[in-house]
Amino acid sequence: MAAAIGFEFAVVAIAKQSVVVEVGFEVDAAAVAAVAAGGAAARNVFFAAEGHAAVAAVAGLHEYLGFINKHDNKTPEKDNISELRRYELPERRPRLLKRLALILLTLVIVAAAALYVLYFRRTPLPAAAPHARVVPAISTIPGIAVCWVETGKTFSRFSFGSTAGSVLVRHPAGDLLIDTGNSSHFDDEIRGFPFGTWLKLKSLAGELKPESPLPQLLRQIGEDPAKLRWAIPSHVHLDHSGGLMDLPPLPVLLTREELQFANDPSVQARGYVIAAHVQKFPSVAAPTLQFNPVPYETFDESADLYKDGSVVVVPLRGHTPGSVGIFVNLSPERRMFYVGDAVDDERGFEERVGKSMILLDSDNAGKVADQIVGRLNDLHEKVPGLAIIPAHGRSAYKKFFPGGPQSCVSNQYTR
Ligand SMILES: [Zn+2]
Repeated sequence: MAAAIGFEFAVVAIAKQSVVVEVGFEVDAAAVAAVAAGGAAARNVFFAAEGHAAVAAVAGLHEYLGFINKHDNKTPEKDNISELRRYELPERRPRLLKRLALILLTLVIVAAAALYVLYFRRTPLPAAAPHARVVPAISTIPGIAVCWVETGKTFSRFSFGSTAGSVLVRHPAGDLLIDTGNSSHFDDEIRGFPFGTWLKLKSLAGELKPESPLPQLLRQIGEDPAKLRWAIPSHVHLDHSGGLMDLPPLPVLLTREELQFANDPSVQARGYVIAAHVQKFPSVAAPTLQFNPVPYETFDESADLYKDGSVVVVPLRGHTPGSVGIFVNLSPERRMFYVGDAVDDERGFEERVGKSMILLDSDNAGKVADQIVGRLNDLHEKVPGLAIIPAHGRSAYKKFFPGGPQSCVSNQYTR
């Protein structure tokens, strides 16, 4: 019998932790007839000699083991594999899909965890030491208004969406631009940095690049950029002072300590301050902003820009050595406090939490910056009607400017 049948073995596939063996017969019809007549063993089944398609799992053998009849001249391998697939695929496909789903789920979980750790997790900070509050006398200045000029945004559909740009203060004695957002030449300005620095700038500040240059947006709300009296950056980082590159020359209000910081080559090497922007600033020897020892709210020093109490600047040192906050008082009831990057967003002063991990590196003096968060939280609790606006906290802008970007608010009405 062994001589009568030539066996041909081929390992075809590995599945379900078992080796699937395809066994081909070279069957001699006469010999098979003889064997059949002699009586096959109970566990063996032989095919009819003429039926090439007859393929079956052999009872008692492994379910994947197929005996293939190669009796005729048709292409047995092809037929055999397609026959084999009838057995294999229903088992293999769900398993493969399960594995893919598991890999995908793992990737999603890892990405979500990374996002949470980098962007959303914040460290709770201690409360500020008790501090006296000096309640300012605020009069309503006729003709004053404040406008939201948004040059860049991300995730704007979500509550955690970011923004960048300017807040324009319209004042009878000349208009003031608070912050200027990114330069419209952002990509060119960061091109020369080493890859790691370039990537950091591109993926953080670069997400808030101007969709339209600042002067164009100012004109859209009826503001002539050439007639601005001053610009006051909350600090000199590129996403706050870059817009100066697009504006006609104008006086930029900065303290000596912030100018020293901006001119420091090691600071510029880290990419947060761009040398070309510094050319738009006054020289270190001629600072344009100085605080007086006049307490204001919970701050010990202040600078009253128009000398009428409408716009009052206070130091918020920490994020940078000369970071400032700017109070804009439209009326005793309608007031905003622009705080630059002292906090990432409203969570900073509402929940008294630090910066997200991805932005920690942007603080020049982390511990000092954390103390400012405590101060802002204290102020928020003492003056609940005051709208504290973090430079990038889009949801805070939306509350103060119900008309959205490119809209203004005055002490009389919103337009
Ligand atoms: Zn910023």
